[in-house]
Amino acid sequence: MPRIDNDLKLDFKDVLFRPKRSTLKSRSEVDLHRTFTFRNSGKEYNGIPIIAANMDTIGTFEMAKALAKHSMFTTIHKYYSVQAWKEFAENNPDILKYIACNSGSGQADVEKLTAILEAVPQIEYICLDVANGYSEHFVQFVKDVRKRFPKHTIMAGNVATGEMVEELILSGADIIKVGIGPGSVCTTRKKTGVGYPQLSAVIECADAAHGLGGHIISDGGCTCPGDVLKAFGAGADFVMLGGMFAGHDQSGGETIEKNGKKMKLFYGVSSSTAMKKHAGEVAEYRASEGKTVEVPYRGDVEATVLDILGGVRSTCTYVGAAKLKELSRRTTFIRVTNQTNDIFGTST
Ligand code: 5GP
Repeated sequence: MPRIDNDLKLDFKDVLFRPKRSTLKSRSEVDLHRTFTFRNSGKEYNGIPIIAANMDTIGTFEMAKALAKHSMFTTIHKYYSVQAWKEFAENNPDILKYIACNSGSGQADVEKLTAILEAVPQIEYICLDVANGYSEHFVQFVKDVRKRFPKHTIMAGNVATGEMVEELILSGADIIKVGIGPGSVCTTRKKTGVGYPQLSAVIECADAAHGLGGHIISDGGCTCPGDVLKAFGAGADFVMLGGMFAGHDQSGGETIEKNGKKMKLFYGVSSSTAMKKHAGEVAEYRASEGKTVEVPYRGDVEATVLDILGGVRSTCTYVGAAKLKELSRRTTFIRVTNQTNDIFGTST
């Protein structure tokens, strides 16, 4: 008989922060930088722990340059050539500490990852990204990569439950990517019925990871700065964003004009657009689990970054956290049935 877990699981939209008395005078007093020492690589990180997703429309070299100005991080997509990496590294030596090289688990991916890491030895982070982090094959893959690259900090995912977070950390990963199905261009939940509400996933996975000295990334589902904060409040060490960084000058994807308005194409990594672009076709055995959308062109990503960072500072002052580090300790979520007053529409 199938089992039903009756514990309520929540999404970002189901909660708000309860405001708390604070001694902070101004938002500018809030320190958004965090320092982490990673469990398996032993390496230290310092920065503002917001990450641009490893999607080919988001994790570009241009995005990395813009975000690194704020000591924010980018997982670079896997489609740049070794030569492009070499040139980027030569021209931007200072921002290599804010980027990860992304790889899937296929043979060709690993060969390319190895070639890039040999060509650019300053790269410290590897991101191992598969749609389903629950396979034994992926666990073995993480172990193999750890063996081959003992000093690199390894991000791995995606998963959404504590036991798998633990298994991946014990297999050699440092930072676990958490999120099954919350993404803005993800269709996994529709196609497969599989998923886990993101706020609860983050709370449970952060607890599991921190118990072992590991870290997590809340990956997907943030639609506004408030959601980014809720992910941090729930215990995420890092928050990864796709859709919120889409449509900018620094984003990949074609620019098109529709009814006199400039739009940019944004698509999931396993959308048929991405598969056709990079593999030539959609493999028969796999359903595409991502979609393609057109988003309004939004100019330089700098304004969006400042908007997000302003939100982060403001939340911290509302709950009395002088540092982002203190946010989850100062967080009480209240369950709500309504988030906003939308009488004049839902846009900001
Ligand atoms: P967003 O910030 O747009 O809500 O979510 C970004 C995340 O969605 C990515 O980091 C990645 O984990 C996930 N994602 C991106 N493309 C796809 C896709 O094609 N299919 C699925 N299932 N997830 C995707």
